[in-house]
This record gives sequence, C-alpha cells and structure tokens, in this order.
Amino acid sequence: MGLADSVRVDEAYAHLLDAQDPLRRFRDEFYLPPDTLYLDGNSLGLLSRRAEATLLRVVDEWKRLGIGGWLDAARPWFTYAETLGEMMAPLVGARPGEVVVHASTTVNMHQLLASFYQPAGRRTKLLADELNFPSDQYAVDSQVRLAGLDPTAHLIRVPSRDGRTIDEDDVIARLDSSVAVVVLPSVLYRSGQLLDIPRLVQAAHSQGALIGFDCCHSVGVVPHRLSEWDVDFAFWCTYKYLNSGPGGVAALYVNQRHAGVAPRLAGWWGNNKATQFDMSPRFDPAPDAGRFQLGTVHMLSAAPLEGSLELFAEAGIEAVREKSLRLTEYLMQLLDTLLPEERSGYRIGTPREPARRGGHVAVEHPAAIQINAALKQRRVVPDFRYPNVIRLAPIPLYTSFHDVWRVVMHLKEIVETGEYRAFSSQRAAVA
Ligand SMILES: *Cc1c(COP(=O)(O)O)cnc(C)c1O
Repeated sequence: MGLADSVRVDEAYAHLLDAQDPLRRFRDEFYLPPDTLYLDGNSLGLLSRRAEATLLRVVDEWKRLGIGGWLDAARPWFTYAETLGEMMAPLVGARPGEVVVHASTTVNMHQLLASFYQPAGRRTKLLADELNFPSDQYAVDSQVRLAGLDPTAHLIRVPSRDGRTIDEDDVIARLDSSVAVVVLPSVLYRSGQLLDIPRLVQAAHSQGALIGFDCCHSVGVVPHRLSEWDVDFAFWCTYKYLNSGPGGVAALYVNQRHAGVAPRLAGWWGNNKATQFDMSPRFDPAPDAGRFQLGTVHMLSAAPLEGSLELFAEAGIEAVREKSLRLTEYLMQLLDTLLPEERSGYRIGTPREPARRGGHVAVEHPAAIQINAALKQRRVVPDFRYPNVIRLAPIPLYTSFHDVWRVVMHLKEIVETGEYRAFSSQRAAVA
C-alpha cells in the first residue's frame, strides 16, 4: 500500500500523498461544489467537463439533425446503448456484446430475474441476502410472487451475523438443488463489504444454480472480471461512481453463454438492429445482451456517461482501485489514530482487508444523525444511512488526500467540542 503502519497525522503528510498521486490531474476535470468537501460520490457522482461536453453535443445534434440523429449523430443514437456498453466493458471485464446501457437498476434487475429465474420441478428458490438495498429486496420478493410462488417458502434471505456483512460461507451453506438463482450485491451499500464474487459463482454453479450480481457500489471503483469469473448476469447504475448524473441510465451484463435465453419482457429496442425497422409484429431478438432492452434508449440520460467513460479509459480502473484503497486506508488510519472508539464513539463498520471492501468507509456513531447535520453545516457532504451510519466515499478521480484529512479534522472537532449536541436527532426525508 505504501502507507506506513503508523500513519502520520499531520497536514503536510496529506499534501505529500497528493503530490505523489498519479491521478491528481483528474480533479481538474470535475466541477467541485464551491467551498465544499464532497464525500458523497457513492450516491451521486459529480459532473465532469467531459460528461457535460457529451451531453451538450447530443443536445446540439438534436437541435441540428432532429430525427436524423438516430443515424447521423457523431455516435449514432440508434446504437448508442451498445456503443456505451462497449466503452464500459473494460470496467467490468466483459466480452463484446455482453454489456448494454438501459433503463434503471431496478428495471434491469426485474428484466434479468424475470428471464433467468424460471422455477421448475424441485428447483424453485431464489437466494438473496437480508442486507441488500430496499429496491432489490422489493424486486426479489415480487419476482417470486410473479412466478406464482410464496416468498415465505421460496425466497431465501441469507441473514447477516453482525448486521453489517454477509458471510460467504452462510450463502454457500444455503445452496442446494432447490436453488434456481442467486442474486447478491457485489458491494453492500451500507457497510461497503465487497463479496468474494468468484468463490460465490463457483459454489452456485457447482449446485446447478445461476448467479447474478447488483454491482451498483462496485462499478467504477473496483475492477471486475465478470466473464472470466463466469457470472451469469449483472446490473448496475451509473450515477454513483460513474458520474453519469441524477437518474443516469443504468447497465446490464449477460454472459454470452446465455445467448439462448430470451427476455421474458420483450420490447422493440431489444430487437436485432438489422431488422428492427422492418417493423415486424414478430420479435427477432438481438444476438447479444442488447435483446434485454425494452424501449428507446434515453439519450439525454445516457449522453453524460460517454464523456465520463472517457475519463475512466484514460485513468484505468486498476489505478482507480489502487488510489481508492489508499484513500480509504488513510481515512481509517486517521480515525484509528485520532479518534479511537473508546474516546470518540466512532466505529468503523467496513471490513479492514482490502480484498473485502469497496470504495466507501462506513463510520458508525450512536449520534450519527446529529454528527451528520454538524458536518453539513461545516460544508462537508457525507451520506447518512439511518440509524447510525455515516458513509464517507473519497472518489479517486476527484477527492484528494488533503480532503480526507480535512474531513477527519471536522469529525474530530465535532465530537471533541460537543458541537453535534446542538443538532436535532430527527432525520430528513432524503438521507
Ligand atoms: C443505487 C442502488 C439502486 C438504485 O436503483 P435505481 O433503479 O437506479 O433507482 C438499487 N440497488 C442498489 C444496490 C443500489 O446501490
């Protein structure tokens, strides 16, 4: 890691780490909110100049070309979902044709579960976990019902032992010939735990089950080898670490081995591009993951992603991951050294091992609601998760080591002065 065992806590050291950072030039590519420490890029990534430029280009194409943009735009809109899928493939380790941008995470999850979860005979169960994001919880429950089954009998939610993490052994212990599909997050949204994907894939396949992952909290900060690991399907949003903008179009991955699996929900945008405009009443599915699309690509919600992905291609996802681990390591070391739990009440809820964590650090505190409010007043933007978690996400392309140092100084002052006690312990509507 290059960081000493006992970290230097002085400000000069933070500047030194920044001076040695090979990715530091990327910070200038972003619009950073003025006088603000933004540590919430795992909820909504910031706008880059490149993303703005590709969005404005598409707006201009619409202005100049009207409907002609479908074929005559710089990157034709007709195949834009596939083009962006190709640009994103290196971030997830996909082969050509396995990734396409489409709709939202939740829609993609429904489409993929509807298509891959086909209970038959004694193999009827959907295996998930109890810590996943609410939308994913609602989706698995409703998919079991859609299949005509009772979730109390056919949906397994693997419990957490500590309320923070899911033990892979507990997932593997529930796998047997009654499980049709396993669907799990790659990184847990609250604690930031990164699951051992290749191990879980191997275990699921050895029991004859399919396995898919929600990669919302890993794409853009953790490298993936989805095809090499033989993941069956995956889906993720692009407005978190990929900085595509609020409600930016999501993505889906389908392993090319499943070329024979038809979408259970068919729409004209999933048609073979060569015959789509034959306007035939018979669906002719695209030969690749594109067939899982439903309707017209959301151009204005996809365009910022193009510029953003250029930045990732320049930086390289391995370098992004390396810096992410250094940033989060530095953050945790500063907390350990300056704010030990017994004195401050802060506790780190994220696994310590680099191989077991994603891009953010979950800092727990009994007064997290009030500390979160105090941080906001000090123009720090964290991410609060009820009831006691403050998620801090230093983003490799735009957060500096000095930013991390300053955030820790705020956390220190807020508890040491008791300043947080002046804030309400009621939570806001969006938190
Ligand atoms: C962000 C996130 C979502 C959001 O889904 P949308 O359909 O984009 O609103 C879903 N699941 C997980 C795990 C997430 O992190």
